[in-house]
Amino acid sequence: MSEHIILILGGTAESSKLASRLQAPDRRVISSLAGRTLAPAEIEGEVRVGGFGGSKGLANYLSLEKITLMIDATHPFATQISDNAINAAIAANLPFVRLERPPWQAKPGDKWTLVGSLQQAAEIIPSKARVLLALGKQHISAFSERNNVLFIVRMIDPPETPLDLVDFELELSKPGTVERETHFLDTKKISHIVCRNSGGKASYAKIRAARDLGIPVIMVERPLRPKIHTLPDIESVTHFVEETLNLL
Ligand code: NAP
Repeated sequence: MSEHIILILGGTAESSKLASRLQAPDRRVISSLAGRTLAPAEIEGEVRVGGFGGSKGLANYLSLEKITLMIDATHPFATQISDNAINAAIAANLPFVRLERPPWQAKPGDKWTLVGSLQQAAEIIPSKARVLLALGKQHISAFSERNNVLFIVRMIDPPETPLDLVDFELELSKPGTVERETHFLDTKKISHIVCRNSGGKASYAKIRAARDLGIPVIMVERPLRPKIHTLPDIESVTHFVEETLNLL
């Protein structure tokens, strides 16, 4: 029996956990990262970094590396790589699954305003608001026109270029526990949060803290995606992988 080689398109907490879960003596597990984070957390198994060069580049990689099965475990808003993954999987006729955590659902006490884009979020922020922008650096420019708002921009790594915002404070830290997020929102006198509906546990604490403090959240909804084979958690994806590899 030839060795199975699994490719995980990663960059999420779930993808790293999945890489650990799928380790076995008779296979290689390769995690692929875009290379956006300066010091990504350690991942079990092999890791490759950087783009493939579009869906054709990815299809070439699948063939060159003799990948047996591909898992798209990228972030729900990372739509380009997900499109590339579907196209490359079809072109290579490869077993494929998407791991996508379900979106957060509003609960009693949440004060969410749902918007379809970052641009819409920028338009509806009221004047004189103190806004926590819980977004990556590549998403900040949507807010550059707002000159009567103070943005508190929270990032993990410092931006390489100056932020394109009129009035802002930079906060270099990771999302914390509900207690820490409550303290943070309170001491920074945050009046609104802008975030995207990423789902998952890692960044939910600020949503919970906002509910407790009665702070409105401008929630950018997920982009509409094509219906493909998608599973919601590590357990179901692991099950699919083991069943599929047994049949190959
Ligand atoms: P994107 O817009 O969907 O992808 C842009 C390009 O980056 C892709 O066409 C691909 O380049 C490359 N790329 C993206 N993910 C890759 C991966 N896992 N391995 C190799 N190449 C990858 O992606 P994005 O929104 O910039 O996100 C980049 C990465 O950060 C993703 O892996 C995602 O899981 C992670 N992430 C994203 C977010 C977010 O908010 N979007 C949040 C947390 C983590 P080529 O076309 O050259 O192959």
